[in-house]
Amino acid sequence: MSEKHAFKSELQQVLNIITHSLYSHKEIFLRELISNASDAIDKIRFNSLQNEALLEGDRDWKIRLSMDKEAGTLTVSDNGIGMDHDAIIDNLGTIAKSGTKAFLESLKAADAAAKPGLIGQFGVGFYSAFMVADTVTVVSRAAGAAQGVKWVSDGLGEFTVEPAERAGRGTDVILHLKEDEKEFLGEHRLRAVVKQFSDFIEHPVVMDVPREGGEASEEPVNSRKALWLRSKVDVTEEEHNAFYQQITGDFDAPAKVIHYAAEGALEFRALLYIPKRKSWELQFAEPKVGPKLYINRVQIMDNCEALLPPYLRFVKGVVDCSDLPLNVSRETLQHNPILDRIQKSLVKNVFQALADLRTSDPETYATFFKELGPLLKEGLARDFANREQIADLLLFESTATEPGRTLTLAQYVEAMPEGQKDIFYLAGEDRAVLEHAPALEAYRRRGWDVLLLTDPIDAFVFPGIPDYKGTALKAADRNQPDLEPEEKKKADEDLGTFGPLLAALKDRITGIKDVRLTRRLTESASCLTADEDAMDPHMERLLQKLGQGGMGGPQERILELNPEHPVVKGLLDIFRKDPADPRLEAYGLLLHDQALLAEGSRLADPTAFVKRLNDLLVKGI
Ligand code: ADP
Repeated sequence: MSEKHAFKSELQQVLNIITHSLYSHKEIFLRELISNASDAIDKIRFNSLQNEALLEGDRDWKIRLSMDKEAGTLTVSDNGIGMDHDAIIDNLGTIAKSGTKAFLESLKAADAAAKPGLIGQFGVGFYSAFMVADTVTVVSRAAGAAQGVKWVSDGLGEFTVEPAERAGRGTDVILHLKEDEKEFLGEHRLRAVVKQFSDFIEHPVVMDVPREGGEASEEPVNSRKALWLRSKVDVTEEEHNAFYQQITGDFDAPAKVIHYAAEGALEFRALLYIPKRKSWELQFAEPKVGPKLYINRVQIMDNCEALLPPYLRFVKGVVDCSDLPLNVSRETLQHNPILDRIQKSLVKNVFQALADLRTSDPETYATFFKELGPLLKEGLARDFANREQIADLLLFESTATEPGRTLTLAQYVEAMPEGQKDIFYLAGEDRAVLEHAPALEAYRRRGWDVLLLTDPIDAFVFPGIPDYKGTALKAADRNQPDLEPEEKKKADEDLGTFGPLLAALKDRITGIKDVRLTRRLTESASCLTADEDAMDPHMERLLQKLGQGGMGGPQERILELNPEHPVVKGLLDIFRKDPADPRLEAYGLLLHDQALLAEGSRLADPTAFVKRLNDLLVKGI
């Protein structure tokens, strides 16, 4: 008896997108089906390590391609783990990937040229078969099950499931090719596609080739070269690119290859790739951490989290170790001293590779850093032991760099003029706003550079980093350059002159903690600062965006006035003539709101601000 089911709604959307945007790369359907077959074989092989009986004697791992010209079908078969009735409905009727929704939305916005790359990495999998087939039939029998199951669909919204016969465990995916896709029944075309996308699949991909007047012969198609087992000098750039693309779905070449064999007390081989850009997985899904783990050439897991810290989740590849027992369970891999030692070595090599890339190919490194730098900064906050190495990999814009150009912390320190003892930074939304921040005026006057931090993560990370190789890191808006002796003398005098005015303003402006004089400003009349222990206003805005701004409301700030500014001097005149003059309050509030606007904060009451400003304009006009 056959049952009818409907596809889950997002799936229909995915199918439409695949057929429309990926058609120019339609041959990747074969990569996807072969990769599913290979995963299915890995699963049964892994399960059989605990329960050998599951294999029923069949360990002749194989992925078979067969063509039937008369029926117009191409079949991809495997002797992997198979699927039972429930699994086939779950797996082939839904897209369970986390982040699918967000991915679909961003795809709509992406430009046409970028789409295939994104979709390729997304791993549309099984459904890509509908680019070339008008009907897909799947016949599968799960390992250990007595009966098989058959799934049929035309990809238009529904599928049917019914019991079926199959000799032995495994899965056949039978594609009824569309009229104009019959090219995939050609031996040469298929061979070329397998070579291009699946050459490094570990299991044999074979093709049944019909021979005149007799039996079909079984011919191997993929070379199954495990690149990581070969010596570094024997692997070409093309081979690396192809393997990297096979395991990541990226259409680009990697930014850097890390390939080495560790010998001695602990033996393992590592082949890791650093991408040029953020993958779809890093942007939209819950990213998988760690390379594939092989033990003596047998794949144990697709992502071994114990092999890399989470912040290096952009690194993909393979680690093959012979010093682990084959029958390890996923649990025992968690706190395994051997894996810990491998991780240390991998991390060291990743840093080394990034440092090399930075000096040997600054342009590629800059692209990499723009997209993946925030992950390194995450590492700066989390990986205390490697803080120095990570700090050396960071790039910053600063008041001294052109927009878009960067420098390193080492270069910043090297260029510090005499008298500057600390590294200063200012965090905010974007460079244009930061450059006009009143807090920078004092630094500019002294010729001191200030790092401009505009990644959202910066505001969370840098306040927690005390120093770079012994030079303190300080927020420019919380610390001021020390006053020179003359400035100090002048500041004391000003305090006597302006003291009563400051007290009067403090009484008239609500919501502030204090009114003080500052010598950090040159052009601006006022700015707002926070106490050492108060929250940074940029951080406060970020938290508000994240919906976490409710912690005790906005912080009370300190209003600082520039005693050299004509407006502030004018206020002093008004105050001396009549301490009760109502203009004191109006102008004081204006100075306060100006300071808020200058740092990129919102006004609590914009209407009142506009009214006060207009009153002033009217008088002026
Ligand atoms: P993905 O492979 O990215 O998970 P697919 O749409 O290609 O997405 O496949 C969905 C699921 O169907 C797989 O995760 C797997 O559980 C199952 N599946 C697909 N092909 C096979 C196969 N040949 N053998 C066993 N299970 C399979």
